[in-house]
Amino acid sequence: MSSTQRTPMPARLVERFAETTLPTVHGALRCVVFRDAAGVEHLALVAGDPTGDDVMVRVHSECLTGEVLGSTKCDCKAQLDRALDLIARRGRGAVVYLRQEGRGIGLGNKIRAYALQEQGHDTVDANRLLGLPDDARDYAVAAAILRELGVRSVALLTNNPHKAEALEAQGVRVARRVPHIVEVRGLARRYLEVKARRMGHLLEDGTTFRPARHDEHDEAHREAHREAHCAAK
Ligand SMILES: [Zn+2]
Repeated sequence: MSSTQRTPMPARLVERFAETTLPTVHGALRCVVFRDAAGVEHLALVAGDPTGDDVMVRVHSECLTGEVLGSTKCDCKAQLDRALDLIARRGRGAVVYLRQEGRGIGLGNKIRAYALQEQGHDTVDANRLLGLPDDARDYAVAAAILRELGVRSVALLTNNPHKAEALEAQGVRVARRVPHIVEVRGLARRYLEVKARRMGHLLEDGTTFRPARHDEHDEAHREAHREAHCAAK
């Protein structure tokens, strides 16, 4: 059979493209840039040796409005900072930073959804009015990056059981889920209830608590407040 007409499948979902040690306010972290098949560049910030089991991992999706502009509509920056601080202090772990803004719907659609929220719709309804999914994030790239780093199983920093399931569906072994609780300020607080009520996120007051197999209650739970994810919100 001739294969000249076929587009060859990429050998890998991601290519390890560049890396350096990056000094940060959290400490020095290894910064590894991966390119996916579409040419989009994703990052892994790594502390210590990421190979092996039970590696503390945060899979984090880009939020320009929160992380760069300081938007108070979500707590993405606080979550990112906490994850980087945690892995730097522990001396082992990785933050996989995916370039999928607004739960994967992109910056423009996220801002359109914000505009609908100004008219009183919540984050879920706003996306639906735009004909977009509540969550368009894709974790295949994250799984490929973790494989490239040599991570065999993860202690996953998240309050979102769906994220653990999505990663497991991509072949990531989630040894346990570690609550990732940050203090929420500003408008983000308003969206917590929507996240819990409509998207299955876990809040510390237990109102929508659905225990996962690998739940772990670490010190974070005690110090904590709640999580609002960076949806289009
Ligand atoms: Zn955000």
